[in-house]
Amino acid sequence: MISITLPDGSVRQYDKGITSMQIAQSISEGLARNVLAAEVNGEVWDASRPIEEDSAVKLLTWNDAKGKSTYWHSSAHLLAEALEALYPGTKFGIGPAIETGFYYDVDFGDEPFSSDDFKKIEDKVIELAKTKSEYIRKPVSKADAVAYFTGKGDEYKLDLIKDLPDGSITFYTQGNFTDLCRGPHIPNTGSIKAVKLMSVAGAYWRGDESRKQLTRIYGVTFPKASELTDYLHLIEEAKKRDHRKLGKELELFAFSEKVGMGLPLWLPKGTALRERLTNFLQKAQVKSGYEQVITPHIGHKNLYVTSGHYEKYGADSFQPIKTPQEGEEFFLKPMNCPHHCEIYKTKPRSYKDLPVRLAEFGTVYRYEQSGELHGLTRVRGFTQDDAHLFCRPDQVKEEFKKVIDLVLYVFGALGFDNYTAQVSLRDPNNKTKYIGTDENWALAESAIIEAAAEKNLPTVVEYGEAAFYGPKLDFMVKDALGRKWQLGTIQVDYNLPERFELEYTGSDNQKHRPVMIHRAPFGSLERFVAVLIEHCAGNFPLWLSPEQFIILPISEKYEEYAKKLSDELKDSDICGLIDFRDEKIGRKIRDAEVKKIPYMLIVGEKEATEGLVSVRKHGTGDLGSMSIQEFKEQIIKEITV
Ligand SMILES: [Zn+2]
Ligand SMILES: [Zn+2]
Repeated sequence: MISITLPDGSVRQYDKGITSMQIAQSISEGLARNVLAAEVNGEVWDASRPIEEDSAVKLLTWNDAKGKSTYWHSSAHLLAEALEALYPGTKFGIGPAIETGFYYDVDFGDEPFSSDDFKKIEDKVIELAKTKSEYIRKPVSKADAVAYFTGKGDEYKLDLIKDLPDGSITFYTQGNFTDLCRGPHIPNTGSIKAVKLMSVAGAYWRGDESRKQLTRIYGVTFPKASELTDYLHLIEEAKKRDHRKLGKELELFAFSEKVGMGLPLWLPKGTALRERLTNFLQKAQVKSGYEQVITPHIGHKNLYVTSGHYEKYGADSFQPIKTPQEGEEFFLKPMNCPHHCEIYKTKPRSYKDLPVRLAEFGTVYRYEQSGELHGLTRVRGFTQDDAHLFCRPDQVKEEFKKVIDLVLYVFGALGFDNYTAQVSLRDPNNKTKYIGTDENWALAESAIIEAAAEKNLPTVVEYGEAAFYGPKLDFMVKDALGRKWQLGTIQVDYNLPERFELEYTGSDNQKHRPVMIHRAPFGSLERFVAVLIEHCAGNFPLWLSPEQFIILPISEKYEEYAKKLSDELKDSDICGLIDFRDEKIGRKIRDAEVKKIPYMLIVGEKEATEGLVSVRKHGTGDLGSMSIQEFKEQIIKEITV
């Protein structure tokens, strides 16, 4: 008998040679139907592979990332079988799973191939899947492997075998197709119910430009047809919501090659939006006892030598700016913390002064490779909603709770109601690689865990994920399409107070080191705005909208009345504009809809004589006519909610 330990810690006894599938069957038939593979002592195995010794076993289903990737890799084998059936003589390269789906690199010889053939191939994949063919594993000798693919004339597989040691080679066969593969795979093809080939591209064999270019076919499969439909819908929605596309259409931000890659230009409307976000957070921070500071965009090299950034990142950063006479070196500011440490040091601090909370919307510059740049989410210059809290060790928990409140307030106001927090702690087995005393770490770690629990935050704890200088808490939000983004972060730091020799005088009249906490509820304004655009598809909450209304006069005759209305609304801090163009009213309405302006106010003869406005709400439609006073009250109520 052998002992099998399951993830819940329970231990079961089975005969030697039991398979994961049989273990699943011994638990429940329903579970067995869903098992795709199993993790045996941390390695993913076929569910049909016999287990010969005491092991830890985790059964993998579609709900596990490793289950999905095994499923998608197995689908690549099925795609290859379909291709071989439809295009005899096709040669095969590699067919791995990717983040979503899989690809296979193939050589069609002289046969032309295009996405027009996708439908035919998809039909064949489904036809083959329905045979419920098992994926059968077979160890083969190197000589037999070479003989098989020589017979088949597949030079790519022979090239792969060349590097494999004899005794390590396995074949997998499903239906009429045999592949060189180390596995693992799903039990049989029956669970592959829906397939979509996504695209086709060229790919050099082994990524080497001097070798033959193969055809890479990307695909995705699902165990239910409805999941494929949902997935395709999600892709369409994500395309429509892409912040780079909406940013252009809504005239929020732009990039210019002349200015430089990865350096966003905020256009007037984007700036209005950004300033509202900034004011909103600033107001909340003042209430929470923060003090606003401003520091320069560059700092002397010595500042970063002291902070340790020079040693760690100097070579991979923007290179220094030199003064013409003295030859002094300055760096573009990669983070605001060193500057804030120097502000802390401008006067003596007592235990009664703490916490000191210094906030700055500080613009920082970090070198990113051009290939890594992406819209507003990966840029070279961005503004952090940064703050540094300098506190006593006994204040860490209270400060964390306050920051959690602030982050949740921000998320709530912007409609992010699906979030989790990740707490990153030390690796308990390797405590020596961290700076700071054991006592302080233990205090900070339990403070974070307790603060998160007291605030009812849904939390996952990750050991070994802390930075060398302190534990942290990161917020992950799920957007309207269910995609995960990392936004706010709170990070304890024992390193910088040490390096900058920060002090406060304790009640014992002795000098002590304060604890430093870095925190940024948005992360950066750039990234946050990108996520916000994609989350709300450009339909910002009214209070954030750069233009809250647009007045549409039916003709030139009503422009005076429109101006009067506009002034009245602006007096109440409601922002908007007038469409003075000589266009038909239908056209003006359509254009305002495209710009996603929340309220359209249509004015013509009746409105002008009776002192009314005809109101249309974006996404809702006609709200009828009302007095300007009524409209103002409605909009103010909506903004303050
Ligand atoms: Zn395989
Ligand atoms: Zn910082």
